Amino acid sequence: KIGRVAHGMGFGVFVVGGFVRDLLLRRENDDIDIVIEGDGITFAKAFAEMMGARINTYTKFGTSVIIFPNGFKVDVATARMEYYPFPAALPEVETSSIKLDLYRRDFTINTLAIRLDPDGFGTLTDFFNGQRDIKEKRIRILHNLSFVEDPTRVFRAIKFEQRFGFTIGKVTREMIKNAIHLDVFRELGGLRVFNEFRQILEEENPVPAILRIFDLGLMEIIHPGITRHNELIDQLDEAKKVLAWHDLMYTDEPIERWVIYFLTLLAPCDREVSEVVARRLMLPPKHRKLLTEERFHARGAYIWLTHGLPAANSDLHRQLSPLRTELLLYVMAISKDEAIKKAISHYMSQLRHITLSIKGRDLKTLGLKPGPRYSQILADTLAAKLDGKLKDRDDELAFAA
Ligand code: ATP
Repeated sequence: KIGRVAHGMGFGVFVVGGFVRDLLLRRENDDIDIVIEGDGITFAKAFAEMMGARINTYTKFGTSVIIFPNGFKVDVATARMEYYPFPAALPEVETSSIKLDLYRRDFTINTLAIRLDPDGFGTLTDFFNGQRDIKEKRIRILHNLSFVEDPTRVFRAIKFEQRFGFTIGKVTREMIKNAIHLDVFRELGGLRVFNEFRQILEEENPVPAILRIFDLGLMEIIHPGITRHNELIDQLDEAKKVLAWHDLMYTDEPIERWVIYFLTLLAPCDREVSEVVARRLMLPPKHRKLLTEERFHARGAYIWLTHGLPAANSDLHRQLSPLRTELLLYVMAISKDEAIKKAISHYMSQLRHITLSIKGRDLKTLGLKPGPRYSQILADTLAAKLDGKLKDRDDELAFAA
């Protein structure tokens, strides 16, 4: 349908990039990127109206997102028709604008396009030997200045290499070294580095990519204080296992997976390092706080746990309840002691769900004078409940009184 509508408006239309790459790799990908040779925004408006969908447009970039009622999204970009007038009264020549659009992309494997308009529906367009590189499992840039033009591509090269089990091509590897040598990362905005680094940490198994980042000397871009110490690989592998355990046990609790790997990388670093990292990557306040402050609360709980496991549930609860799930999983990842992992797992599966049946207003009906004492009474009552001393609401009321 997209093809017919675009064609009817006189535009060429292609599905491009990751979707086509993953189609050839037989991997699932729901991100559809469309390129219109013509006016992408006009097309998107007409198509959305026809389909009863909404759109967001970004006029400056000539892009739109079509959002269908079921939440499905399609990105639409514009490859403008470009005309080059020839001298000596020859007619103007239309260059293939899709080719120019694809030439601006990062790697050959992302330059494949499939034509959608009825004339050549389904034809694979491959200007830069992307198909060959997929077959030969190679990540290759399109031109030698690619990493100078956009240094974030270095991180993307590593992400794709590890995700697909490909190898970064020889020249491309040389160009990465060259980019590092030229220090092209110095000027790179922190937010862009963060975005790519986070994407790597969100990969199904980010550990090999993290090690590749160390090998290439790229971790220094984030901070030279983040080092590949002796225990790091074990800890990262442990983080992976803990995440798999969490996925299995708590399918409906969404967590930020990258945070656990990032905390593990920062584990031996002092606060000063994490402050610099947070500034460099321009982290939003929530994540800055997590990396600079809250991870030390988690560390405190970890040290407390290494001093011997608590006899009482209430003690364990008091230590762990201020920590977000990501921090609990991080403590599990860095602790070698199975008993500590078990204690955290006990807290997560049982203790954190225990709450009181009584509230502040129940204390009032007991004749207790409202005031700051209320929170202490409720905390003491919860502690007694956690330690199995209170069976029901009447017990709670009696204890509070
Ligand atoms: P992922 O599967 O991780 O989402 P992707 O390549 O499918 O990766 P995006 O990262 O959203 O999806 O990128 C979409 C397309 O945009 C890519 O296929 C690539 O062609 C292009 N692209 C993205 N980032 C860059 C970049 N920094 N430089 C050049 N082209 C890029």
